[in-house]
Amino acid sequence: MRAWVGIGSNLGDRVSACAAAAVDLGALPGTRLLRQSSLYLTEPVGIAPCEWFVNAVAEIETDLAPEALLESLLAIEERLGRRRDAGPAPRTLDLDILDAGGEQRADPRLTLPHPRMHLRRFQLLPLAEIAPGWRHPRLGQTASELLGALGDGARVVRIARLEPAPGNGVRS
Ligand code: AMP
Repeated sequence: MRAWVGIGSNLGDRVSACAAAAVDLGALPGTRLLRQSSLYLTEPVGIAPCEWFVNAVAEIETDLAPEALLESLLAIEERLGRRRDAGPAPRTLDLDILDAGGEQRADPRLTLPHPRMHLRRFQLLPLAEIAPGWRHPRLGQTASELLGALGDGARVVRIARLEPAPGNGVRS
């Protein structure tokens, strides 16, 4: 299954946390990291004023079922030191499944595609960079088309390419 994972951090060494998360994704069982977007510096939306986020999107090919992928993402978040505070709060690392094989489900434990990804410039911009042909499984629009329709005026600035670790065959 092809899946797209949103990576975000706004606490501590944000760039290192995002880079380490991408490496960890590629090291999951039965999983290959196919592409990773540039890093983007993004204005916080929907939470109290705080440090800007660093965001990226990774495209993976995985044999893991969506539930197992989610469990693995939570384990990566724990390993890289996320504090699980209640509600939206600054976080070392936040990983979201944006889309897993085009599947659609409304389960609150795992909603697919991610219920807010089509409204988030900070996820759509990196997704459009690495997956111009991707379409939202429910809405049928590409990331660029969804960006064009966005009311979200939050600022998103591309800051750097995420350099692949040597020898892992990533195309960025
Ligand atoms: P948050 O703390 O906002 O990152 O929310 C994490 C929780 O959202 C996880 O424990 C998941 O069970 C749930 N969740 C529902 N859909 C998704 C999704 N597509 N990707 C990641 N987490 C999800």
